[in-house]
Amino acid sequence: MKKLLPLLLLVATILLSEAQEKLSYFLPDDVSYNEKIPTPEDFFHQQMGEWHLSHDQLLSYVKEIARLSDRAIFYEYARSYENRPLVHLVFTSKENQQNLDQLKERHYQYSEPGSPTAKEDVPLVVSLTYAVHGNESSSGNASVLTAYYLAAAEGEKIDQLLKNTIVIVDPCLNPDGFTRHSTWANMHQSSVANGDSYSRQFDEVWPGGRSNHYWFDLNRDYLLLVHPESRGRVEKFHEWKPNIVTDHHEMGANSTFFFQPGVPSRNNPLTPERNYELTHEIAQFHAKYLDKIGTPYFSEEQFDDYYFGKGSSYPDINGSIGILFEQAGFRGRVRETSNGIRKLAYGIRNQFTVSLSTLDAAMNLHDELLDMQKDFYNDALKLAKQSKTKAYIFGSETDKVKTQLFVDLLNRHQIEVYANTKDATIDGKEFKAGSSFVVPAEQKQYRLLTSIFKEVHDFSDTTFYDVSTWTFTHAYDLQSASLSSLAGISLSSEEVKALLPEGKIMGSSQPVAYVFRWNEYSAPKALYQLQAAGLTTKVATGEFMFPVNNKDEKFENGTILVSVYDQPKSPDQIKSLVASVAQNSGIDFYALPTGLSPQGIDLGSNSFEKLLRPHILLFVGGSTSSLDVGEIWHLFDQRFQIPLTLTETENLGRMDLLRYNTIVLAGNFREWTEVDAAKLKDWISDGGTLIACENASEWASRMKLGAVTFKKQVEPDKTRYLKYNERGKERNLNYISGAIFQAQMDLSHPLCYGYTENKLPVFKSTTLVANTLDKKYAEPVQFTSSPYLSGWVSEENLERIANAPVISVQPIGKGRLISYYDNLNFRGTWLGTTKLFTNSVFFGNIIR
Ligand SMILES: [Zn+2]
Repeated sequence: MKKLLPLLLLVATILLSEAQEKLSYFLPDDVSYNEKIPTPEDFFHQQMGEWHLSHDQLLSYVKEIARLSDRAIFYEYARSYENRPLVHLVFTSKENQQNLDQLKERHYQYSEPGSPTAKEDVPLVVSLTYAVHGNESSSGNASVLTAYYLAAAEGEKIDQLLKNTIVIVDPCLNPDGFTRHSTWANMHQSSVANGDSYSRQFDEVWPGGRSNHYWFDLNRDYLLLVHPESRGRVEKFHEWKPNIVTDHHEMGANSTFFFQPGVPSRNNPLTPERNYELTHEIAQFHAKYLDKIGTPYFSEEQFDDYYFGKGSSYPDINGSIGILFEQAGFRGRVRETSNGIRKLAYGIRNQFTVSLSTLDAAMNLHDELLDMQKDFYNDALKLAKQSKTKAYIFGSETDKVKTQLFVDLLNRHQIEVYANTKDATIDGKEFKAGSSFVVPAEQKQYRLLTSIFKEVHDFSDTTFYDVSTWTFTHAYDLQSASLSSLAGISLSSEEVKALLPEGKIMGSSQPVAYVFRWNEYSAPKALYQLQAAGLTTKVATGEFMFPVNNKDEKFENGTILVSVYDQPKSPDQIKSLVASVAQNSGIDFYALPTGLSPQGIDLGSNSFEKLLRPHILLFVGGSTSSLDVGEIWHLFDQRFQIPLTLTETENLGRMDLLRYNTIVLAGNFREWTEVDAAKLKDWISDGGTLIACENASEWASRMKLGAVTFKKQVEPDKTRYLKYNERGKERNLNYISGAIFQAQMDLSHPLCYGYTENKLPVFKSTTLVANTLDKKYAEPVQFTSSPYLSGWVSEENLERIANAPVISVQPIGKGRLISYYDNLNFRGTWLGTTKLFTNSVFFGNIIR
């Protein structure tokens, strides 16, 4: 071995000059190039792949292209959280640019069901989108070559392409992550390029550059639309209705190159067969182009488009064809791999080459692609006609904010929503006029809306690249029903758009107190504003009633009380603050003229518990999961405007924990010792609330914090015969890749305040299942005895989950440990279970 080492090092380092490639390496030579358009080399004063381009550089180049080229226009469609522009560069011929709006409209109209628009002169729209994962650098770097080629290439081939096609180049879908990674990669470059895979440059510091500002994976957000990046791009998607969308990624360094189609048995049944046929035809072009430059590749073996929240799958459920590309990722200028030394330049060339093969395919399949899109929407209407489900109805009278957030999501997906204008009872559920909505099946987004509303119970394959179900009414915990007929349902004559409610103050003009209910999604935002203003707030642990504006208003457990007296502010100041909070949170406040309630507890009762303003500490970095802690950060910061301190796990030993009353752990904390655990235990004993999520609940158990134990994993079935090359299936049988289960709640428990139904759908994405503690009141939320709702799970795992706790609460000294075994804030979209999480922050310390 000793002899081998110097040899390997020799291979891994090469001279800088050899690490680079001239422009001729990348560009096809079957066209000539307009010299008025600056090459990337000229513009950046470096060769492609020499230094990682920054987002600012990408931006300045595409702006320059738009300035110089009469084939291109440029616009900004959104801003990232860190205020970086997300942009499109739109290419078509100079003649087409003169009437781009008409062409766009013509293309849009062509596929509208029943549209008389003739196919002649309808342009095809192709969208080339790069770098949704910020650290997959070959992707974003290739975008400048695509922009250069489309602006500068000359000759019959490019003329024909631009005459019939509109090409949208989105150079970077994730500017914040891209910035983190390009900085990291460049700061580790030596003048002697070193591809040693132990080099620090290949180990990005936590959280890396893959995700966005709040550490979310934007390539799961196309359906969820939690973030401004995705909201902007999906809005533009529906405006342009591209026929093909490319989505460029990177995978392991030792791999080759992948293009779709993915694994055929893992196709989503809602995607039409024609999509796969055309994806196959397009693949012939990628193969031809990659063969020509000698790049090895594969397709159909890995990856799938089952989950519609990805860049390559959202187009599939919207009449377009999404194509995933996965290039081996090198992350530095050069890297040693099992395929030899690879250069960033090589990856860039591959990503650029498949951009060109996509455009060639588009040109050759112009009519087929236009027809597919038109058929997609026409067939959707036919399928809807055949469907037994004629509509979905949903809505919550007690959580209008969350209902409107869901209407907003449907609006953004171009799904038609109507107001229900007459009270209706369906399957024993009441849907009130004014707070419920109807989505008729018969509309062009039939397929997408079906995937949003429907539970999924049948699967032809049990391996999933991502989650197996995403029923949104469960995620939002909204009452809903499917309708087999619209008879008896009254709909608004017009479609409705989301309108976030504005709350108001009702009742006395000379109140002694204000109260508001905890059921609205935005309740934590409202409460925190009052607490931050220094007001004393209390929560009702019993029920009461008051007549307000001649109506008997019943107030449940969890109602928040703000007295007008004994406060650091005057009654007038409190009134104006409450008015502003009501308005910005959408919550109605009730102004009560007396403390004496006609029924239930009085306002001075000891059953009102004083609340603490949360001072939250969230451990990040180290062995925590950036996705999990990012969701928590986003929840408090973006949804509720509640501050929290993010600190490195390594700081625990030297911190004064008494500054915080709530500590949140999400991770496995393998770096923490018994001494660290003891410090946390002392802090809990002094009255703190420790919230341990998923893996952290296992860590706490290992550290003897509390007494939770966990169920064993399902043993693989030894009697089941599998061939050697099927061994991956064994693992998947015991895997939960995202499924939905029903839990039941004790509504009188502080952690369940604000819920009005005692059933709650919970999303489970791991096999972690706790044993019951068998202690009274310790498990206020448990899975039901037959909890299955939607998604794939093996019989054995379902048995493990039945009756298991969702939450355990254990007193430790004057404080308590609250353990969650599932991700209640999954992808910022599980608004239903999120309330459990925020309740543990606001009400954890009143649990006795
Ligand atoms: Zn990726």
